[in-house]
Amino acid sequence: MNTETIEVDSSSTPPRGINPGIRMLVALLNAEGYPTTDSGDGKTHDYPCDREGAYVVIRLPAHRAAHIVDEARAVVGLLGLQRIALGPIGGDRPWVQASYDPADGTALIDVCGIDDAVLMACRCGENEACSRCPKALS
Ligand SMILES: [Zn+2]
Repeated sequence: MNTETIEVDSSSTPPRGINPGIRMLVALLNAEGYPTTDSGDGKTHDYPCDREGAYVVIRLPAHRAAHIVDEARAVVGLLGLQRIALGPIGGDRPWVQASYDPADGTALIDVCGIDDAVLMACRCGENEACSRCPKALS
């Protein structure tokens, strides 16, 4: 696993068809080797299936499905590098939830409650003076 803070570049080309408020999280997950299959920023609601809150669904390739617990822990670690404090599923803080369907081998990891504003916010309290946290979106 990568042990350095990941740089998130707001000038990079956002993935197509992705809600504007979740593109950087999707790009971050994709760049770290987590293919995503669905997402929503919790505000745009282009499709009826979009959830209430911000979410990204990672779909693990078949050869990684059996390792879903380790994969989910790695996603938690990645978010921890971004200083995002997670909580239990369905709570007030963002959470990660993994699911595996043995009928068809689908292995999904949901990342919930983190939109780009949350991803890019200063979490140390220094705000504009902060050089450690990702820069806030302009
Ligand atoms: Zn900070």
